[in-house]
Amino acid sequence: MIGYLDAGSASMLIFLPVLLIGLWIGSGFIGRAIGKPKGLGTAGFWLGFGLGFIGWIIVATMPPRVPQYMYLQPGIIPGAFCTMCGQPTAPSARFCGGCGGPVGQK
Ligand SMILES: [Zn+2]
Repeated sequence: MIGYLDAGSASMLIFLPVLLIGLWIGSGFIGRAIGKPKGLGTAGFWLGFGLGFIGWIIVATMPPRVPQYMYLQPGIIPGAFCTMCGQPTAPSARFCGGCGGPVGQK
């Protein structure tokens, strides 16, 4: 009777998980590459990592994140700033996402 684990299937048992983990992490890096030009590198990595090609599609269709420095130049992006800590917030936000303070329009 042939043993349950011969040398071939034993090496496959090691090789397959390594291959799958490699592909998994690789899909994260592909998502990161898609998201990076839009400032969504980290989000792209996790979407690709978690959802594979579906994550890549989500990253590809996501609107680009406005770099924070653009908020610091008045008149370019209409937005609001926290009156407590000065962090830029969403234009519709009433309270700061960082410290919970009131948001003043600028
Ligand atoms: Zn704040």
